[in-house]
Amino acid sequence: MQVGATMALLTPLLADFTTDGLSLVGEVTAEDLGLTGDDAVVRGPLAVSLDLTNVEGLVAVTGVLEGTILRECVRCLKEYEDPLAFSVRAAFIPEPKSAPRHSKRIDPRKARAEVVEVEPEEEPDDQYQYQGNQLELAPMLREHVILSAPMQPLCSDDCLGLCARCGKNLNEGPCQCAAEPPIPTFRVVQDIKRKTGGSSVS
Ligand SMILES: [Zn+2]
Ligand SMILES: [Zn+2]
Repeated sequence: MQVGATMALLTPLLADFTTDGLSLVGEVTAEDLGLTGDDAVVRGPLAVSLDLTNVEGLVAVTGVLEGTILRECVRCLKEYEDPLAFSVRAAFIPEPKSAPRHSKRIDPRKARAEVVEVEPEEEPDDQYQYQGNQLELAPMLREHVILSAPMQPLCSDDCLGLCARCGKNLNEGPCQCAAEPPIPTFRVVQDIKRKTGGSSVS
């Protein structure tokens, strides 16, 4: 729908904000976000719907990112499609200007400005910086996609996994191991002894 508008979608200008903020709706590709195959295997485009507000330079971003990620199930090792729909929350602050030089003569106005400057020591994880009058949303969205990956991806909560003996994917049906009635081990050993004993002694 917004062919060719991807760059504008991911790099909005502060000048484009109205008093109500800015709404961004469209589709982006994994490439647009800088996602590599190591980060996540994305199938198809990702749908982005974001609302941005600018309050004196602090830009708050909320919205939703939707798409499909290919993951590998930790139990059955099969690739499966993981539909994604997660909320995006981030704040963008202006990149602090280069550290002021400490001169001996302090202009009172400058000194006051220094006090006001916020030390970005303890930034919350979802806080990003922007330069000039343009935001770069791609790195923020990329992080959201990466962080959405579960520690233990499962194709389904009740994935049966692989048979520990024959390695068959048990989601595709039972294997022969399960079909065979469990034979007590001592009987098997006895049978083998009887057979081998009988044949070797005679
Ligand atoms: Zn599985
Ligand atoms: Zn088996």
